[in-house]
Amino acid sequence: MSLTSPVKAPLATVIPDRVKLLLVDDDRDNLLALQAVLEPLHQELMLAESGTAALRLCLEHDFAAVLLDVRMPEMDGFETAELIRARKRSRHTPILFLTAYRSDEQLFRGYDMGAVDFLFKPIVPEVLQSKVSVFVELSRTTQLLQLQAEERARAERRFRAVLEAAPDAMVITHEDGIIELANSRADALFGRTRETLIGRDIRTLIPGWVGAKIAPEGLGSAHSVREERMTGIRNNGTSFPADITRSPLATPEAILTITAIRDATEQVVAEERIRRLNIELERRVAARTKELTQSNEALQQFAWAASHDLQEPIRTVLSYSQWLSQSLGSSLEERELKMMQMIEEHANRMHQLLGALRQYLHVSESGQQEWKAVDCSAVVRTAISTLQGMIDETGACVEYEALPVIPSIEILLIQLFQNLIGNGIKYRSLEVPVIRVGALHTEHGWHFTVQDNGIGIDPKYFDYIFGLFRRLHGVQYSGTGIGLAICKAAVERLGGRIWVESAAGSGASFHFVLPEKANDKQASSSISS
Ligand code: ADP
Repeated sequence: MSLTSPVKAPLATVIPDRVKLLLVDDDRDNLLALQAVLEPLHQELMLAESGTAALRLCLEHDFAAVLLDVRMPEMDGFETAELIRARKRSRHTPILFLTAYRSDEQLFRGYDMGAVDFLFKPIVPEVLQSKVSVFVELSRTTQLLQLQAEERARAERRFRAVLEAAPDAMVITHEDGIIELANSRADALFGRTRETLIGRDIRTLIPGWVGAKIAPEGLGSAHSVREERMTGIRNNGTSFPADITRSPLATPEAILTITAIRDATEQVVAEERIRRLNIELERRVAARTKELTQSNEALQQFAWAASHDLQEPIRTVLSYSQWLSQSLGSSLEERELKMMQMIEEHANRMHQLLGALRQYLHVSESGQQEWKAVDCSAVVRTAISTLQGMIDETGACVEYEALPVIPSIEILLIQLFQNLIGNGIKYRSLEVPVIRVGALHTEHGWHFTVQDNGIGIDPKYFDYIFGLFRRLHGVQYSGTGIGLAICKAAVERLGGRIWVESAAGSGASFHFVLPEKANDKQASSSISS
């Protein structure tokens, strides 16, 4: 099984164009004749005039073939061939004997000495050329195969080094789960030697393991890598939580699976701690919320009770002071009359404040008001009719375009528009008040605006004015400082938000957005309940 990727650069390009051929003959003329015949093959020809010279050359060069004359003085062709074969470098070099004799004895001896062929003199040039060409081709092919094998071995070594350097235990398996390779971290993690890991079914180490499949998007896509928490089993039978990442590896022979395994024991402990902390946190938040809700309810009850209970004594003060001014009116001095008026005025104001406070409590309490489809144009008409006296008095003009029908709580919308339109008229400039009401559908929901041409508001008070009892203007404008707090509470109960845009002296624009989704949800929950 090979784990290398296919060789990219064509190896043929690294093989030299010409191979070396060794021609050996004691007769110089014969040598030159051989050289002339083989020249057209365009290979590197080396000449030796004796067996000894040929052996020397074989020590220094690799030959594609040796053409060896059999009959030579001192060392004949067979002896030379025997010594060529005896050397490691030239053990497999093909040898072609050149001989004038066709004797069987010579043939056997020659083949014994490692001859691959015999050529009989007189040499036929075409035969010699074609036989030598075969060896030239053979040599080139052998070199190519050798280079490929070396390249493959290098790539495998690189791959194993990468595997070894990985931060996790790495195991490479066949499709059937049998382990082909593992790194030393895998040995350590499972407490096994490499030999006992290779060839073992990975499911004996990780019972839940399944092979990785190549995603339709192909190798390298995010889907072809999967991380899961499984159980790993060590050699001593103990188990541990293991984070497993598997990815497919395509080789020319098969699809393998690379499995990275990480001991997740510490992570599991940390996760468990976080889980417990979260439960504890949720418990505390729930307890605190309960406490807050209880104290909030208690406060609201108190505020209700106070606003109701104070109403009665105020009314009594008011009616007694009115009775006193009526019955003693003529006998009272101017200073005493003024005092009586002050008592009445303050009692009236107290009465108003308590009324507004009750209204605020009513809007902000989480009671069950009915959600239904509300026609905002009708709501604005109701608000206008409530404010009719003020409108007639100031000559104010309230303009509104066709407004939407939305799921909402009608009474809250009436209070909202009544307060905003009322303020627009109340905080008028020297001009005749003109109030414009509009609505725009946006991605956040319905965006309403109530715009006036009054005295405007300094931007530094934009947040301030939405608080309870917050007033910017003193006695010249009557009011409780609760109107905008009511608007804010109403919008928030409807799941929206409210803000103002203005510059002192150039009118004010109040905006509020009511989200559609929240409205839909609330509406459907109230319809179903
Ligand atoms: P109030 O009863 O005083 O009108 P609100 O809560 O309605 O109470 O408003 C708070 C303060 O915000 C007001 O006292 C006023 O100073 C300022 N305000 C509200 N609406 C406007 C407006 N349209 N133009 C200018 N000032 C405004």
